[in-house]
Amino acid sequence: VILSFAAKLTILHINDTHGRAWRFDDPNNQKIGGFAAIATIIEQVRKEVESQGGYVIFLHAGDFNTGVPESDLLDAAPDIVAFNLMKLDALVLGNHEFNKPKQQLARQMKLANFPFLSANFVDPEEIVKPEPYIIKEFPDLKVAIFGLTTEDTLVLQPIHLNGATFLSAVETSKKLVPQLREKADVVIALAHLGIVPGRYPDATTSIKLAEEVDGIDVIIDGHSHTKMEEAMVVNSTIIVQAWEWGKVVGRLDLEIEDGKIVSWSWKAIPVTSDVEEHFYVKTVLGYFKALGSEKLDTVIGETKIVLDGERANVRSKSTNLANLIADAMAWRANADVAIMNGGGIRASIKPGKISIRDVLTVLPFRNTLYVFQMKGEGLLKILEYACTVKPGQGAWPQVSGLTFKSVGGKLVEAKVKGQPIDPEKTYIVATNNYLALGGDGYVVFKQLTGYDTGLALDNVVIEYIQNVLNGIIEDYDSSQRYVYE
Ligand code: ATP
Ligand code: ZN
Repeated sequence: VILSFAAKLTILHINDTHGRAWRFDDPNNQKIGGFAAIATIIEQVRKEVESQGGYVIFLHAGDFNTGVPESDLLDAAPDIVAFNLMKLDALVLGNHEFNKPKQQLARQMKLANFPFLSANFVDPEEIVKPEPYIIKEFPDLKVAIFGLTTEDTLVLQPIHLNGATFLSAVETSKKLVPQLREKADVVIALAHLGIVPGRYPDATTSIKLAEEVDGIDVIIDGHSHTKMEEAMVVNSTIIVQAWEWGKVVGRLDLEIEDGKIVSWSWKAIPVTSDVEEHFYVKTVLGYFKALGSEKLDTVIGETKIVLDGERANVRSKSTNLANLIADAMAWRANADVAIMNGGGIRASIKPGKISIRDVLTVLPFRNTLYVFQMKGEGLLKILEYACTVKPGQGAWPQVSGLTFKSVGGKLVEAKVKGQPIDPEKTYIVATNNYLALGGDGYVVFKQLTGYDTGLALDNVVIEYIQNVLNGIIEDYDSSQRYVYE
């Protein structure tokens, strides 16, 4: 039998790389990941598939920004240049693409040789203009790829949106997919949605998308950092995700006959240290790394103890590191009180020398220090909201100059420097720009008028360690400033 309309398509995919452009250590101190090794895998698969007459598409399912100081300092230029060299076909906007102002994202889009997709994103300011979809045309196969970004972004990264919004991923797809089916043999959703519901259960998951929208052949997913052993199939849609940080490359092989997938297989290729690094990609990334490393290696102090920034801890209790950061904010702003979100603290610092890299790993968002002058009444409203936050959420409050207590989600006690908060008295309150602009549900801040000092939080913490702690941390207050019952 001659299958004149049979075609082979291989989709390679990564997601949630978060600045992991260079090889890094896994928990067993084995080197893994890195775009130079991924480039080798991509090149090998391309050769293999193309020599057999098949086609290859390479996709990124979002969240390439934020997580490694060398990348963050250069606004992820190293990552984008590596993707260019790897001939990435498309990337979908992830929520972390909105960590910095939209102008910054627009610059990233200019540097990229590949399109940024998102069909459900709308920016009335027209600063960020992603394509809703692209059609890849091969000699006997047309492939539609459309982008979807999690509606979670509205609550996770609200501060730079300035009126931009995310429409329902389901409704957007219901309109778009029938049109794409007319134009292409295969329809792929490149989705930064996530397989499991996040903290915001209303946001569309990939599973819900597959259940509610007919006609999507494949969902290449991201956002939930899911390590999959095998692909899922929901309502005849194949759903795959490639874990996180480029630890694996997903490989989906499809055989298509007359616009139908007749057979397929998926696997996650581990990016281990025995994968040889691609020479050009490695050279270019090495150059970028050297650019930043002199600054990042600078030692700013030393700690004798572990400074605890573990995700589960800073989102459920006071820790020495959270207290230190809040104290640094209050000190630099000359404030009575400082409040920040535990979710803004992203790593611990091990005993030993502290470098600028360590501080930027703890505080990767380049948050600025905000100062408010407010009545005790306003401060109480902020704390009342903070008491509704459940342990484990990024919004969990970390404070300085203040002790407070909640019972069953209600504020029952709040003292500034040992004195109950006076609703009529004026207090100086420091926070970061994320909370000041209403992030993590702190809308009370947004309703008040504050002042952005423009000082980067990471620099504030560095100054505090150098000037107040004299560069050496023997011990630090880890008392519970907020008691949750
Ligand atoms: P993913 O990488 O899958 O998108 P995520 O990192 O966004 O996940 P979490 O790890 O739960 O999800 O982090 C979300 C929390 O991070 C928010 O609740 C908030 O506390 C904090 N956060 C996010 N963006 C910022 C920011 N720009 N400044 C300060 N804190 C932030
Ligand atoms: Zn992510």
